[in-house]
Amino acid sequence: MKILISDAFDPSLPSKLARFGEVFDDKERLPEADVVLIRSKTKVTREYLDNAPNVKLVIRGGVGLDNVDRETCRERGIEVHNTASASSVAVAELALALMLAIPNRVIEGHLSMKEGKWLKKELKRTELYQKTLGILGIGLIGTEVARRAGAFGMKVIAHDPYVKAHDFADMVPMDDLLGHSDFISIHTPLTEETRVMLNAAMIARMKDGVILVNTGRGKVVNEADLAAALESGKVRAYGTDVWTSDPPDPSCPLLKAPNVFMTPHIGASSKENLLRIGDVIEEILEKKTGD
Ligand code: NAD
Repeated sequence: MKILISDAFDPSLPSKLARFGEVFDDKERLPEADVVLIRSKTKVTREYLDNAPNVKLVIRGGVGLDNVDRETCRERGIEVHNTASASSVAVAELALALMLAIPNRVIEGHLSMKEGKWLKKELKRTELYQKTLGILGIGLIGTEVARRAGAFGMKVIAHDPYVKAHDFADMVPMDDLLGHSDFISIHTPLTEETRVMLNAAMIARMKDGVILVNTGRGKVVNEADLAAALESGKVRAYGTDVWTSDPPDPSCPLLKAPNVFMTPHIGASSKENLLRIGDVIEEILEKKTGD
């Protein structure tokens, strides 16, 4: 079996998979590959697959499959897997990190001190305790966020059309989530239903001064509408790991909007998660080969 590692994984992965066959990372050798391992950078489009006649299996290290043309894979009998179970804690911790850093003014405190300023009076903090967190999409990652937010004494509500009841959150209609949340954390996949779902009309239904955190997908928000809401103060802050493209185009309005706190799509990039992703890939290949 020939395995192409097309994106960045833990350096231990090639030796972990060596027992299944030849493992290489030379993308020029795509036409030889039986298995392709990707993260978010490689786009498995119809054209990509045209150049991969032997591929029977695509494994996405991570969760979102929006960079894989699953329809074409289905047509060509190519199996597609992700490693969904591996990444939940890593992404949930980043969502919580943003949720803690923003109202605690950690980033402004750090940056202003680097500039020689002492903003002790100016940097007023607010707490998570007794605030309402609205989770949009309560699957694997949303669940880990809900569990941890409860430990901070937050009231956790969630909206998810496919989940009726949850152990760590009260399930509510979308309008209630928008109207009652002090924080909204986005954990939906990118689908036709969720694409630019958070637009001006939805933002208008949110509480004034809401803090949004997005570790789901950048394309779930309408960037221009959100930038306008940050300018007006309707949305107090936006903490985001995800963008409409990686990296964001310089014209992305959120890069210039006030109170945007950013990370470069590192939700799944904890050391521990990269090791777990490797373990899940090994399990998938074990099942395939019976090895
Ligand atoms: P999951 O499938 O377990 O959960 C997604 C949840 O969203 C499901 O419960 C689903 O019912 C719900 N959902 C679908 N459509 C919805 C809608 N219209 N409104 C509200 N809820 C809706 O997936 P997960 O493992 O929790 O991952 C969620 C997303 O996080 C992924 O699809 C991916 O886009 C993103 N992600 C980001 C990173 C990162 O690096 N920042 C890493 C991993 C995953």
